[in-house]
Amino acid sequence: MLKKIDHIGIAVKSLDAAVPYYENALGLKCEGIEEVAEQKVKTAFFSLGGVHIELLEPTSPDSPIAKFLEKNPHGGVHHLAFESSDIRGELAHLKEKGVALINEEPKIGAHAKQIAFLHPKSTMGVLTEICQDGEGGCSCGH
Ligand code: ZN
Repeated sequence: MLKKIDHIGIAVKSLDAAVPYYENALGLKCEGIEEVAEQKVKTAFFSLGGVHIELLEPTSPDSPIAKFLEKNPHGGVHHLAFESSDIRGELAHLKEKGVALINEEPKIGAHAKQIAFLHPKSTMGVLTEICQDGEGGCSCGH
């Protein structure tokens, strides 16, 4: 079952340029910057009303975010992430409903969360991520 919107992922060319807008103009506090090697991004996290905003800067020209920025040179909303209490069950359910999965198996994202993406062709054009907290909720022993 989906629990809530966990975060909104926003592609930016440069965290150095984007973070001051969120901090100074919007008045949000940057909660941390983390590089996620597997996704070839550097992320900055903000939080408002229990929903996180995840700014994503590419760390390599073949990062998915670099490709997104080629099409959207000013940056923009990249993905929407829903939190699930059971990511594997959620993926099985979505597959059964005919939703195309980019990741059949969860991968490890920022904050050691398990994450998996659904294909935009099945989600009305919105790149959708399902995530589950790394701590506690995982039954696989990691
Ligand atoms: Zn995300």
